[in-house]
Amino acid sequence: MRGWWQWLRRRSEQRALARRSIPDALWQLTLARYPFLAQRDEAALAELRRLSSLFLDSKEFSGAQGLPVSDDMAVAIAAQACLPVLRLGLRCYDSFVGIVVHPDEVRVRREFVDDDGVAHEYDDVLVGEAMEGGPVMLSWRDVSEAGESAEWGYNVVVHEFAHVLDMGDGLADGIPPLADKAERGRWQVVLTDEYEAFCARVDAGEDTLLDPYGAESPEEFFAVASEAFFVAPQHMRGEHPALYALLAGYYRQDPAVG
Ligand SMILES: [Zn+2]
Repeated sequence: MRGWWQWLRRRSEQRALARRSIPDALWQLTLARYPFLAQRDEAALAELRRLSSLFLDSKEFSGAQGLPVSDDMAVAIAAQACLPVLRLGLRCYDSFVGIVVHPDEVRVRREFVDDDGVAHEYDDVLVGEAMEGGPVMLSWRDVSEAGESAEWGYNVVVHEFAHVLDMGDGLADGIPPLADKAERGRWQVVLTDEYEAFCARVDAGEDTLLDPYGAESPEEFFAVASEAFFVAPQHMRGEHPALYALLAGYYRQDPAVG
């Protein structure tokens, strides 16, 4: 049965790859626009291109506020979204289908009830959002500027998809699904140490490679650390060697080496 099942899966993958193959010129353009992708070795790039085709085939893109989502926009998003799961596989993204692309950041009205039972409303500005069960929302302006913003470790696609991975065990807590309890314990120790040290630096007004927004919570810290890990890996390894090693183990990648 297993052999039969694998054969079926391989065949459906072959069909998806044929349906959604990314033309050479468009792939080269994507690598040129997002140099942090191009820095990977040949084998990694071939796998990234394969996963991106499968991603395009299995996800549904829609533009908000009348924004048309062109092929090159979809490929740009697919390639950046597949980077974190290059070695983990696309099944990590099985929990959702929709990707909603807004032209720019989105202002949303939030409400919360405080400890005294008083309701408050405030405006929140989003460049991306990942919700359990999807969809993933992205601001195209931020996605399109990812080539330039990589220099300061910023990447909205990696950020939101790191949240998707984090929620893979049903909890957004900065701890993605891990092999066992021991690994979970190790993760907690390193993440907590790094998070606390980071919050202290942010409070002291220091310049940090990681987005100060990471001081919001451990889950935001995991997401911003993942951004820098993939788009500014040498810098990230220099500033946070222990955190870099933790992420390299989880993602099964060493982007600082290529
Ligand atoms: Zn976030």
